[in-house]
Amino acid sequence: MDLIHIESVFRPADESALPSFTPGDTYVSGGTWLFSEAQPAARRLIDLSAIAWTPISTTPTEVVIAANCTYRQLEGFDWSGLPAGRIFPIAIRSLSSSFKTYGLATVGGNIGLAFAKGMMTPVFLTLDARYELVTPAADGAPANVRLVSAAAFQTGVRQTILGPGEYVRAIRVPRDAFSRRLVLRRAAHQASSHVTAMVIAAADPATGATTLTLSGALTYPVKITLSPAASVAEQVDAASAAHPVLVDSHGGGDYRRLLLRELATEALAALATPDHAA
Ligand SMILES: Cc1cc2nc3c(=O)[nH]c(=O)nc-3n(C[C@H](O)[C@H](O)[C@H](O)COP(=O)(O)OP(=O)(O)OC[C@H]3O[C@@H](n4cnc5c(N)ncnc54)[C@H](O)[C@@H]3O)c2cc1C
Repeated sequence: MDLIHIESVFRPADESALPSFTPGDTYVSGGTWLFSEAQPAARRLIDLSAIAWTPISTTPTEVVIAANCTYRQLEGFDWSGLPAGRIFPIAIRSLSSSFKTYGLATVGGNIGLAFAKGMMTPVFLTLDARYELVTPAADGAPANVRLVSAAAFQTGVRQTILGPGEYVRAIRVPRDAFSRRLVLRRAAHQASSHVTAMVIAAADPATGATTLTLSGALTYPVKITLSPAASVAEQVDAASAAHPVLVDSHGGGDYRRLLLRELATEALAALATPDHAA
């Protein structure tokens, strides 16, 4: 789609050249969603895709994924030695638009969009990631940088805690989280449709804890740690009652709560088998 209100495009290769925010500024990464809809408020595009961040880097304690890492780069990374990374190709292939956006769409663009059907935030929530957020300052002053948990970032459909001019620079995942065993289960109207509900079950060998991340059916993803004191269905129901359930043409609240229960049961059964899919 032509964005007819755009007056200028700024595409730095160096993050330090990013301008301070003025009304009408809009960040763009892959542009796969931004150019799919009219953007009447946008006057200047600030393109983050050319910034020379390392797409994925590892340290002894963290795996750091740059916001402008594309789905293709995420899927193509060598995740051997970081077994939970096998979840990324599964999540990427679960996007309704996967084949169209694969080479261009970025992790940061997906997180910034904050769709209920978003695939990246549930995965990062499961892995206890933190997002590095940056607000450029005026007149060459140092940028403001803060770290927030994936759990705190998305607050609703297309709603996040990002302030004016703030962008996602990186996703920081504790390296230990990559030893978790994960199972993703999704429900959609068709194989190519976006998710109506999705659950990621995770078993942590270090703590013995089992968690469920519930998404797609809720307006933002929610993670619970299972307790032996109540049934899985009771715990999933309690979580979906405590958070806003999405109601749209893909399903009402009761249907989506039912899907969450069913997917949770399926995911946990798969997790209990020795040769489960990631
Ligand atoms: C038809 C269609 C169907 C889709 N279905 C799904 C689906 O089922 N599941 C799913 O998860 N996604 C879905 N998407 C979204 C798709 O994955 C995205 O287009 C993609 O995630 C956006 O990435 P991008 O890099 O192209 O972002 P852009 O299109 O460039 O930007 C998307 C939004 O994020 C903001 N943004 C970009 N980068 C950053 C950053 N670093 N920090 C903060 N904000 C930023 C932009 O200002 C914009 O608001 C769909 C998209 C389309 C067009």
